[in-house]
Amino acid sequence: MLATQITALESASSPRWARLRRTLWLLPLLAALVFVAGVMAWAYRADRAEREDRRATLIADALSSEAQLRDRLGVEMAHLRDLAQQLPALAPTSAGLSASPQVVEGLRGLWLSLTWLDANNRIIAHVPESAIPGQDGTGERADVPGLSAHLTQAAGTQRLVLRYSPALLLRRGIPWWLTRKYDVQLIDSNEEVIASLDQTPPRSESRGRESYMVLVGSNMPGAFLALSLREVPPPFWRTLPLVLIAGFLGLMLAATLLLRRQVARISRAENAWRTEAAWRQAMEDSALVGLRARDAEGRILYVNRTFCHMVGLPADQLVGLQPPMPYWPPDALNEVMLRNKRNLEGKAPRDGYEALWCHQDGRRLNVMVFESPLIDAQGRQTGWMGSIIDITARKQLEERERHQAEAMAHQARLTTLGEVASSLAHQLNQPLTVIMGYNAGLQRMLLDAGYDNQAVLHALSQQGEQAAEAGRIVRRIREFLTRRAPQREACGLGAVAHRAAALLQRDLRAARVQIDWALAPALPPVFADPILMEQVLINLIRNAVDAMVGSAPDQSTAGGRIRVTAQPDGERFVRMDVEDTGPGLEGRTVEALSAPFYSTKSDGMGMGLAICRSIIEVHHGGMDAGSSSLRGARFSFTLPVFDTALHASHEASLADEDARANLEMEL
Ligand code: ADP
Repeated sequence: MLATQITALESASSPRWARLRRTLWLLPLLAALVFVAGVMAWAYRADRAEREDRRATLIADALSSEAQLRDRLGVEMAHLRDLAQQLPALAPTSAGLSASPQVVEGLRGLWLSLTWLDANNRIIAHVPESAIPGQDGTGERADVPGLSAHLTQAAGTQRLVLRYSPALLLRRGIPWWLTRKYDVQLIDSNEEVIASLDQTPPRSESRGRESYMVLVGSNMPGAFLALSLREVPPPFWRTLPLVLIAGFLGLMLAATLLLRRQVARISRAENAWRTEAAWRQAMEDSALVGLRARDAEGRILYVNRTFCHMVGLPADQLVGLQPPMPYWPPDALNEVMLRNKRNLEGKAPRDGYEALWCHQDGRRLNVMVFESPLIDAQGRQTGWMGSIIDITARKQLEERERHQAEAMAHQARLTTLGEVASSLAHQLNQPLTVIMGYNAGLQRMLLDAGYDNQAVLHALSQQGEQAAEAGRIVRRIREFLTRRAPQREACGLGAVAHRAAALLQRDLRAARVQIDWALAPALPPVFADPILMEQVLINLIRNAVDAMVGSAPDQSTAGGRIRVTAQPDGERFVRMDVEDTGPGLEGRTVEALSAPFYSTKSDGMGMGLAICRSIIEVHHGGMDAGSSSLRGARFSFTLPVFDTALHASHEASLADEDARANLEMEL
């Protein structure tokens, strides 16, 4: 399950995908930017359209205002023309002029004053009378601000000059609502303001305000009507929606930064998790321990690679399986089921248990299983995690060691028997030879005396033959048991001693005895039979262990040290010492200790040292014993160094020995 997740993750984490994922946090910001750009474009277009509309309205308003002014002046002009026609009927005095209802009407309206001039431009009449031009002008209308303008109408040789206020013209001629929207001014061609409608100050600076000028017309030559927007609308990017959008963009930016930090944190955590998972996987795969997770019902949840190798099945075939498992031995299913039930109940031994499993190829394997609770993230136990160690090789090694030890013991028994037989043969040979001598002498004496009791003679001859047969039997047994003629060759004593110690490893471990090696470097090989030498060393090391264990008050915690030393002894011999920390020899000589059947052990046979000594002597060496610097016993032997001359003479002596043995057999 874990492995599948990791594989899925690995496939998803290709470099391209990873790079894309690292920049994903930018996506909302990019989308927001695109959205804002769209809104800006829309706002810009709307603003432009609005400006154009505003300009068109301004132009239309200016033109219509100009038309109204022009009409108004046209009306005034028409009144003046009517008055001019009526002049002959009027009294040529100011009173006469002011009697005219048109004059009264006019003065109530735009007119400031009306002057009647003769052909020489002398004033005939002037209304209102108080406002005579050239005087102090106190008769001017108080409600009229600013400059004045003239309209002139000829009446024959005489002229009527009408003074009116352009400011009043503007105030009366321009609708009030336009004045709220625009600054309305009359200006001359030098851009001097003639009249202006600006009761309230404009809401924005004149610079940048939109305006339009139009020529007023013939009744007011050279004058322009100028309309300027009182308010400059803010640029489209300073409108509320766009300010809100900018705020939104700021928030978006902040959110993106937070998102980025979060993504970086998640990505770091993810990387750490992935590295950890990869390490764990690598560790699990490289571990020599098989791992198996099971739920409370015993269903397999997870196995590692080592486990798969152990049982020869792939993970996908194992995960999900419920007992009985395919790797359980079919001939012991009931027993394994019971054990499995015990394990699932949490009663598995804490220090593990041994089990026998079957590989898919039919091979059996010995495993050691350690069960421990499987705890989930919430701390609940969801099953069992088993660690499995394949101990097949160890078991086989133990089995081999056991066989070897048995074989060694058997060999030792045979050697002992051979030696016993040899001793017996040696000791029985003499009485048998004497019996045979007496028997032969007796027969000869009887024959010489003419004794002819055939039955007695036959019995005597049978007796002699049986004695000879007894001698032959003893020799044959000896031959059978000991006739392994030493196979002498160049033999490294160090290697032989190490082999012997390895064979005794169990005994050494059990007795907590440690061996110190002091083998001289470049030790020359000796001329000896390695197998017999191994027996000698096994005997000596075992005797040392026995002595140390036997002298310890508590045999289970005996302990001790053995020192094996090997060094050249002169040029022609190598000497080996086996010393121990046991009780020592208490003055006993090697001859006494190696006497056949001498033993101080309750179960000892007393042949070990005898055999050692005879083996060493067969090899033309010598054996010695004494006390050690370790305060225990020391057993030493010397053996000749291997050389070719020695080898040749040995071959020759072998031939002699064979001949002697044959002779003995014949005897
Ligand atoms: P066995 O081991 O059957 O007794 P051995 O011939 O090997 O026969 O040994 C003869 C005796 O020599 C032992 O019983 C023991 O008393 C003595 N002996 C041998 N090795 C040692 C030793 N390292 N320390 C003390 N005594 C020893």
